[in-house]
Amino acid sequence: MSAIKNVTVLGATGSIGLNTLDVIQRNQAAFKVFAVSGHSQLQKLLEITLSFSPKYVVVTTSEKANQLADLFSQANIKETQILFGEQALCDISSDSDVDIVMSAIVGAAGLVPTMAAIKAGKQVLLANKESLVMSGELFIQAVEQHQATLIPVDSEHNAIFQCLPKDYQYGNPQSSGISHLLLTASGGPFRELPLNELHKVTPDQACNHPNWDMGRKISVDSASMMNKGLEFIEAKWLFGIAEDNIKVVIHPQSTIHSMVQYVDGSVLAQMGNPDMRTPIAHALAFPERIVSGVKALDFFSLQDFSFQAPCESRFPNLYLAMHACKLGQSATTALNAGNEVAVDAFLNERIGFMDIYNVNDKVVNKFDSVALASIEDIIAHDKECRNYANDLVRKLSL
Ligand code: NAD
Ligand code: MG
Repeated sequence: MSAIKNVTVLGATGSIGLNTLDVIQRNQAAFKVFAVSGHSQLQKLLEITLSFSPKYVVVTTSEKANQLADLFSQANIKETQILFGEQALCDISSDSDVDIVMSAIVGAAGLVPTMAAIKAGKQVLLANKESLVMSGELFIQAVEQHQATLIPVDSEHNAIFQCLPKDYQYGNPQSSGISHLLLTASGGPFRELPLNELHKVTPDQACNHPNWDMGRKISVDSASMMNKGLEFIEAKWLFGIAEDNIKVVIHPQSTIHSMVQYVDGSVLAQMGNPDMRTPIAHALAFPERIVSGVKALDFFSLQDFSFQAPCESRFPNLYLAMHACKLGQSATTALNAGNEVAVDAFLNERIGFMDIYNVNDKVVNKFDSVALASIEDIIAHDKECRNYANDLVRKLSL
């Protein structure tokens, strides 16, 4: 592999962030951690700094920066600079010394720093699907305009990326003989729960995913299949493919991470153990391959593969997301905003699991046709949708 690459890890203390650092640790001749960011887990940021000696650590507030400075001085760390706030996130994403930016902040907070990396023409590894769902066309236009390299980290999209032809033309799947993208989904922890029990599930049950170990927000999204809905929208934008050419297939074993179906009847699938270090390693090293620490798939101990169609009454959020995708940008931004507010309220036990859909549906219906011409418009629209979603949550939690 060529010269050592400097990596900024946005959201380094999270599940994707820590997995990224694990892969980098295994490939120290190829990658160096340039900067990391975190929100509230200062102890983890201290440990990361001791292991990787980044040039910068960014936190969200001045208060957190002061607390981290105390921890650093107790640990005698002198070389790493502490910064805080959104502009600092943009600075570590666009610094001229940075080659690769891992976008792994959860939620809308990831949009502005990810855009900063894109505008600086970086190699952007996209885990933060919410930013693409929020800004779709503008995001993709910026990638093209600034000649950034966008590589999907979400396991399904990384799988599809691996199964597409090398000369795939964005927005023109037919020219490569592609008929459909098949997004696989595990169906989450409630795939077989009696429907009349869904309303009383707890946050801990929702976060207890059968196959993947992830952050709490995406775990709830997986349980409601909103995650697959967001991924449906993500796939449309990442690959420039019409909604009618994307199908969702439940595959409870999570061994096939997604597939591409061609007009001649061929289906190409990417498989592996369900461990995010595989797509992370693929995205970091692309187009080369590096070790990730993931165990080789053992075909002799695999369970049977099974497949099902997702049921609308069990997973209404998936169908709402597919509907919003057809409606356009205003609806998908609204959906993402409503969902972030509703999932947070569910995790804090203010509303029930099925209320997440009720909030999302109302927010999408109210805000499905606002004209959005810039990232500033999108941020303002996101805020308005959140205010409305918060009102709905207040009423539901009375
Ligand atoms: P997580 O909750 O484990 O980590 C989130 C990270 O974002 C943490 O570092 C946290 O400090 C940071 N953060 C949270 N709020 C912030 C804010 N307001 N400002 C700045 N930073 C903030 O989440 P995760 O599971 O690692 O997921 C990260 C992203 O990757 C999400 O967009 C998720 O959808 C996507 N993703 C995750 C997985 C997975 O397996 N975990 C798979 C595919 C995609
Ligand atoms: Mg995924």
